[in-house]
Amino acid sequence: MPINLDAVGKRIGPMTTQYSWKEAVLYALGVGAGFDELEYVYENRLKIIPSFAVPLAYPFFAEVVARSGINLAGLLHAEQETIFHAPLPPEGDTLTTEGRITRVYDRGEGKGAFIVAEAVTTGSDGRRRFTNIMTLFGRLDGGFGGDPPPKEEFAFPDRPPDFVEEQCPSRDQPLIYRLSGDTFALHVDPDFARASGFEGPIMHGLCTHGFACRAVIKHLFPGEPERMSRFRVRFSRPLYPGVPIRTEIWKLEEGRAVFRTVNAQTGEVVLDRGVVEWVSREEAARRARGEIRFDGRVAIVTGAGRGLGRAYALELARRGAKVVVNDPGVSRDGSGEVVSAVADEVVAEIRAMGGEAVANYDSVATPEGGERIVRTAIEAFGRVDILVNNAGILRDKSFANMTPEMWEAVLSVHLDGAYNVTRPAFLRMREQGYGRIVFTTSAAGLFGNFGQTNYSAAKMGLVGMMNTLKLEGEKYGIKVNTVAPLATTRLTEDVFPPEVQEQLRPEFVVPLVMYLCSEECPVSGGIYNAGGGVYGRSVVVSAPGVRLGGGDRIPTPEEVAARWQEIISLAGAKPYPNANAQIMEMLMPPAAPAPAAPAPAAPAAPAAPAGAPTTVAEVFARMPEFFRPEKAAGVDVVFQFRISGPGGGDWYVEVKDQTCRVSAGVHERPTTTLKMADEDFLALVAGKLPAMQAFTSGKLKIEGDLMKSQLVQKLFRF
Ligand code: NAD
Repeated sequence: MPINLDAVGKRIGPMTTQYSWKEAVLYALGVGAGFDELEYVYENRLKIIPSFAVPLAYPFFAEVVARSGINLAGLLHAEQETIFHAPLPPEGDTLTTEGRITRVYDRGEGKGAFIVAEAVTTGSDGRRRFTNIMTLFGRLDGGFGGDPPPKEEFAFPDRPPDFVEEQCPSRDQPLIYRLSGDTFALHVDPDFARASGFEGPIMHGLCTHGFACRAVIKHLFPGEPERMSRFRVRFSRPLYPGVPIRTEIWKLEEGRAVFRTVNAQTGEVVLDRGVVEWVSREEAARRARGEIRFDGRVAIVTGAGRGLGRAYALELARRGAKVVVNDPGVSRDGSGEVVSAVADEVVAEIRAMGGEAVANYDSVATPEGGERIVRTAIEAFGRVDILVNNAGILRDKSFANMTPEMWEAVLSVHLDGAYNVTRPAFLRMREQGYGRIVFTTSAAGLFGNFGQTNYSAAKMGLVGMMNTLKLEGEKYGIKVNTVAPLATTRLTEDVFPPEVQEQLRPEFVVPLVMYLCSEECPVSGGIYNAGGGVYGRSVVVSAPGVRLGGGDRIPTPEEVAARWQEIISLAGAKPYPNANAQIMEMLMPPAAPAPAAPAPAAPAAPAAPAGAPTTVAEVFARMPEFFRPEKAAGVDVVFQFRISGPGGGDWYVEVKDQTCRVSAGVHERPTTTLKMADEDFLALVAGKLPAMQAFTSGKLKIEGDLMKSQLVQKLFRF
């Protein structure tokens, strides 16, 4: 079976794992800890070895292997990297892991393929604990025409190592290590190991990885495993238990070292290209407290010279971000000369508190201005991780008096302005595989406000932009959200009475925006209200409504009038993840409700002559048998089915002149393409998985003509 390229980018999980101090200690014993490092094995002063993060994500790894379609006969764990966000509580916790296969690389026919998967694990408090990045090597899977893996420079310093740690895993080491979850026979069964070409059971690569993790901590930040922020190795050779190993460590700078682990008997490198990074004691303490930080992140805040933007910029910088403070310093209605002072003042404030910031005076209202704002970030700080689209003006007038200039001025700053800055920033974020974008809407847009048709249109336009950008950014780790703030600023100085102005300080909006800008932010595509200490969510919902005219007959306006109360009822209303989900639900009537009372016993229906199909290939072989020519009058359509998984394949079905023809392979111009995993497809055909549910849960993907895809249900009775 070939590598399943369809699995790339699909969410895996969430899956939960529980551990208590006993599992942590068992793992520590498995990777060789003992009386010399009592903190890893004694519950009264327990510290968790950071590499325990890897076995905690085993269920995710197993799912990656299953979904990737990798040939198990040639499967090797090539590299393992873990990024640590906050230490694990020693007493135990319930962890949630969710991730995806992020990339697949092809080394060419006979040379194998790499599959890279990434998963974030959070604690029961919702805080991120660690991210695992696993690279699998499929020796037998190359040559599918994919991109080659990127070249990576790596060299150990040309000097003897700064530290050397000698260790000796016991002959029985894998017998303990396997109890942490990897019970593969190769590490325990001598017959299996010999049949696999080894002299006997070998060490788990991840067991040696745990030995190396202990070794680097001992020499670089002894007794403080919670300071580790990154640990990466490449598995290069097998090792037999009982063979001594030597970990050689070169400290490159404070916070970063490289290392390798060698077989001390043969000199062969068993763990190569090791990288370890660690943080200061203060930073480790901050992480333990769960502080949201932006260290190493670069943020752009538009309109940051005053009001809300200024408050965001100051807090981002206070929490470690490097900030581009954009503001031309224009008047409330956007007119007037560029006044650099407001942006400069905020930059000066940030620098005075020890932060890093640069000013930019471009208007967001032109594409060139947007490009320059993003370029300022790249030139000053090398990247852009966070963009807060905040710049705003007002030109209020009742609609009858709203001139084209007033209309355009407001739309060009709020709506075009957000497009102008977001697009170049999005391109950068996509390259980086990470980004946080915040748009700014308003209650005036969400609900309406007299005299603000221009502003309301722009503010609701931003919600539409977010709704689609959240979909386009998803697979690149870009989250897009929208804040609807309420604060006393220059824009609202004449709106709120003096007694509530203090309560509506911009600082009250800041915490929510900081969360949306943070790595911790779990959501994309949300609208959040914030002001005066109140934080909540606004949503667009759609209600199921009623079906008039049976779907075939055009109903009359009188029927609409007669059923008006049902049409406007919000009973059962809900938000939708995307337009297709909502459209599909409108088009596909829900399954008929079960009868209220048990139906009288009916004679058992005669079984279909050849029984229900049990394989995907059988479904297509028998497609003409399921075809209903009486429903196909005037239909001319090509359905392309792309079924992934071990029993999958490509077939297309041509329906024309009330006949149906099935062929294996890929049609050049299908009307609609339906993509599913083999198991899901069989469940759908068997009537166990409703088409609607398959679609909204992402199990059924439709490309091309969505409407025509509906015909499958009408034309075939499985
Ligand atoms: P503000 O006037 O204090 O700040 C807006 C800033 O944007 C100003 O410094 C201005 O110079 C800058 N700006 C204007 N045109 C620009 C352009 N073309 N390019 C770059 N910068 C430009 O107002 P604020 O209340 O802080 O508004 C911030 C955002 O919040 C706006 O988008 C506004 O619509 C939105 N908002 C505010 C409230 C509120 O209660 N204050 C409510 C809803 C929405």
